[in-house]
Amino acid sequence: MEMASKINAGHLKRTAYLYVRQSTVRQVFENTESTQRQYGLRQRAIALGWPQERVETIDTDLGQSGSSAVDRRGFQKLVAEVGLGRAGIVMGLEVSRLARNSTDWHRLIEICALTQTLILDEDGIYDPREFNDRLLLGLKGTMSEAETHLLRARLRGGLLNKARRGELRSQLPVGLVYDDRDRVILDPDKQVQESLRLLFETFFRTGTAHRIAKHFRHHGVLFPRRVLGGPDKGQVIWGPLGVRNVLLVLHNPRYAGAYAFGRGRWKKETDGRKEWELLPRDRWQVLIPDAHPGYISWQQYEDIDQRLRQNALAYGIDRRHGPVREGPALLQGRVACGLCGNRMSVHYHRRGQHLGPDYLCNRDYMEHAAPVCQIIPGARIDVAVGKLLVEAMTPMAIELSLAVQEEIQARLEEADRLRRQQVERARYEADSARRRYMHVAPENRLVADTLEAEYNEKLRALAEAQDNYERQGSADRKVFSKAQRKQLFSLIQDFPAIWNDPKTPPRERKRIVALLIEDVTLIKAEKIAIQVRFKGGATTTLQTPLPLNAWQGRRTPESIVALIDELLDSRTDAEVAGRLNEKGCVTGAGEKFSKQSVRWIRHSKSLKSYKDRLRENGMMTPDEISKPCGISNDTVKSRREKGLLIGRRCNDKGDWLYFPPSSENLSIMKKSMSDLSPDRLNEIEPPQKEYGV
Ligand SMILES: [Zn+2]
Repeated sequence: MEMASKINAGHLKRTAYLYVRQSTVRQVFENTESTQRQYGLRQRAIALGWPQERVETIDTDLGQSGSSAVDRRGFQKLVAEVGLGRAGIVMGLEVSRLARNSTDWHRLIEICALTQTLILDEDGIYDPREFNDRLLLGLKGTMSEAETHLLRARLRGGLLNKARRGELRSQLPVGLVYDDRDRVILDPDKQVQESLRLLFETFFRTGTAHRIAKHFRHHGVLFPRRVLGGPDKGQVIWGPLGVRNVLLVLHNPRYAGAYAFGRGRWKKETDGRKEWELLPRDRWQVLIPDAHPGYISWQQYEDIDQRLRQNALAYGIDRRHGPVREGPALLQGRVACGLCGNRMSVHYHRRGQHLGPDYLCNRDYMEHAAPVCQIIPGARIDVAVGKLLVEAMTPMAIELSLAVQEEIQARLEEADRLRRQQVERARYEADSARRRYMHVAPENRLVADTLEAEYNEKLRALAEAQDNYERQGSADRKVFSKAQRKQLFSLIQDFPAIWNDPKTPPRERKRIVALLIEDVTLIKAEKIAIQVRFKGGATTTLQTPLPLNAWQGRRTPESIVALIDELLDSRTDAEVAGRLNEKGCVTGAGEKFSKQSVRWIRHSKSLKSYKDRLRENGMMTPDEISKPCGISNDTVKSRREKGLLIGRRCNDKGDWLYFPPSSENLSIMKKSMSDLSPDRLNEIEPPQKEYGV
């Protein structure tokens, strides 16, 4: 360890001096925190190897002003001890504070270097004989910038120490208050308590923040909130409970009776804004469970935390920040809801191999647990908008728009000519005003003054006209040059090919959309209305039919359904699936068949199962055979194995159904197998009919 390596036996033989001081009498009383930290250094010295009795504290300067070393007997004593080579190490908070001004400071470092004395503060241990350490100490002593940093560190360190003991008072969340002895208690207001209890109970019942907000909204229950500033600071007001608030309550460890400090920090964004960032729990500076009464136990808090984390994974609350940008949704970020005007967000659902976008208006849902405004499957909308772009970008359309632009350009040139004339006129007027002014005799003051004013006025008008001309001129776009036109046209010709190429990444398509389309407004009624607003203001409205739902989208062809119906006459679901796969058939979603998918089709098409079909044809269950004969189902099974009964395995669970035995066979069955001689077995009538193989 680098720190310990600076300490040798010689240092340890000498005394460790802890220099403790406070600047003013007031600080002694108010800032006992800093004093406590200074005494904490004492423990460091012992840990580093100094015996307890050889750690000496010099604190005679407590309450002395720090303007000069002369006034501080304690500091003088320290210098003397170091000078006599009796000190092995000098300890203090922020060593530069050992001496208020640099002269004292440098002297102490020089003396320490001569007598091989080490210096220790909260940042580390220094050997003043070493160049690097001396440099560091010198910097610490002289740099005023360092001083402000240290001042802050001292303040912060003090707070942290207090917080570590759970004594730092902080803003309590609603539902908790300080009593007159500064202890945290539940808010005595029963209504406030009840509201919090209801919130937690609802969570344990429903498991999501949304459902809590929904529950409160549905039952018209208001929730308390504490005013954080202004004249009503500290007052409790009641209002609707939003999802954000629910999450703040659920995440706050104080409701579990835990004291927490440093749960977040201010983060500087690149644009200079500061944003409060919550840290993960293992990076909180202080966490003391069971510090005060709460509404839930620490275990419950942990359960909630766990649950919320799972929810976040399952529902993708932060999906907006996730890889969505790379998703295929064409209109991401530029879709508005035609019903309420909010921006619509994109969610993806997986359907087989395909990632399908949905545009949904859920801001009210996210923030207030209000119902989702509308959800619109996005695939068809993207296709329709893409088609619109391809149609709009034809050479003919561009030719037309270029012609329009030329027309506009011609008018702009006309306007330009007029503006230029205005400038010339203003210049002419200014010139004549100047001439009149120059020709007047200087002693004719009255006339001269009037002409001067006129000249100034004309000059101002000229400047304005010139300004105007230049401003307008640069605002007007120039006509495309011939080369530019050619380039543009070749691009347009390629556009449909580029757009429709499956290898074109969604990112590129989105970039094209961003160039051409301002926004898209969606309304779902009996059809979906898509209003596209192009850059530049032109709008077009498209309509697409409502898409098929998921089940319709992957409907199994009728021919396959008929085949399944036929196969079910003699096979279980798994056997049907096997047969279909042998024939190379696939499901509506393009996948291989499984017993589940056969069962699903059977249910949705109301096809009877193999078992039902066998039953309809009079086959019997094991019970129906065993009960009248007074034998067990196991015996039925063994009779089947002996060939006395003919049956069929009727489903994939392994149940059997049996052909009704003849009365002859029935009577044989009643006897025990041992009674049956091989001859008798031959008398058994063979099964009446074969069914369905
Ligand atoms: Zn909406």
